[in-house]
Amino acid sequence: MSLIATETVPDALGHFGAFGGRYVPETLMHPLQELEQEYHRSRQDPEFQREFDYYLREFCGRPTPLYYAERLTRELGGAKIYLKREDLLHTGAHKINNSIGQILLARRMGKTRIIAETGAGQHGVATATVAAMFGMKCVIYMGAVDCERQALNVYRMKMLGAEVVSVKAGQQTLKEAINEAMRDWVTNIRSTHYILGTAYGAHPYPLMVRNFQRVIGDEARRQILEKESRLPDLLVACVGGGSNAIGLFYPFLNDKDVQMIGVEAGGEGIEAGRHAARFQGGSLGVLQGTRSYLLQDEFGQVQLTHSVSAGLDYAAVGPEHAWLRDLGRVQYTYATDDKALEAFSKLARLEGIIPALESSHAIAEVMCQAPKMSKDKLIIVNLSGRGDKDVSQAAPKLNIQMPV
Ligand SMILES: *Cc1c(COP(=O)(O)O)cnc(C)c1O
Repeated sequence: MSLIATETVPDALGHFGAFGGRYVPETLMHPLQELEQEYHRSRQDPEFQREFDYYLREFCGRPTPLYYAERLTRELGGAKIYLKREDLLHTGAHKINNSIGQILLARRMGKTRIIAETGAGQHGVATATVAAMFGMKCVIYMGAVDCERQALNVYRMKMLGAEVVSVKAGQQTLKEAINEAMRDWVTNIRSTHYILGTAYGAHPYPLMVRNFQRVIGDEARRQILEKESRLPDLLVACVGGGSNAIGLFYPFLNDKDVQMIGVEAGGEGIEAGRHAARFQGGSLGVLQGTRSYLLQDEFGQVQLTHSVSAGLDYAAVGPEHAWLRDLGRVQYTYATDDKALEAFSKLARLEGIIPALESSHAIAEVMCQAPKMSKDKLIIVNLSGRGDKDVSQAAPKLNIQMPV
């Protein structure tokens, strides 16, 4: 493998090779440029980094442990498995890393109102949380179907003082929520910052979100060197838009012996409309500000998607992942709903950890890989979030009933 130009990508216009860029209506060009400039200024400002580190540590609970999953390792009988415990962060997933970074930027730009989209509700909760903490007004857009399947998170956002708008257009999930958030942003640009929740969208979002999430990989690298005195052989993470995966992978991209697998949502199988695995049957296109792989029909209409986990249920994937996949640096596979549920249950019973359904897709892939690897190999899997939000959805599927 040749070295990857991680420091020079994306280019000044936000391109990762043939992917990325900025495809937005004219009215959004100026705010995106303003955001980009302020972001670059913040990177030169040690005070910004100091504050970011402070809130990650004192408010969110970083660093998160790199935990040796001893019973899972023994059960699978192969490679030694470490869990990167993003599930232990305040609000329950990695999303808060990015929300803290972006609200600090919003404050620097003098914004007083925050908007965001959310799928599973984890990004909505993280954003409502930081908005409350910084005393800003907050509106969260969420598809009506997602509101229903993640009701707990809707209540949490409201308790935190956010307004939750249930979006009833189209498939009533994440894509429609992003459309509404962009519409709001165009209308309220002066007062409002849009905290996008994943490594997706128009430049500079994919770059900025990756850099706010790379703390996951930076910590994991330090921690595995402390515990094992060497780098891991394999990294595994689930891929929705791609922020938890790129956060873990990025600091290892130039370590040529570290293999990486991103796991997409295979839903009910790879058949049009039944999954959200963009690298299985997706093609190059433009959606919501960026150029990447997406699930579309021959007329360029975005296809329906399905996943048991709302957080992976999106028709396109972040541009940096599309690039890494074309380079052959990262492998991408998928786990079906059934495999993810099996992994969900297994981790709960073997390790006493109920994972998010999204993260369960990564665990499912570890269950395939670990037995094929020898006992001296090391795997790090990103446990991107906890499963509290998913219990009411998973219970009937796992045939778990209330005692009578
Ligand atoms: C949102 C979410 C994801 C998917 O988003 P990425 O940007 O791909 O990380 C994965 N896991 C959890 C727990 C989430 O909340």
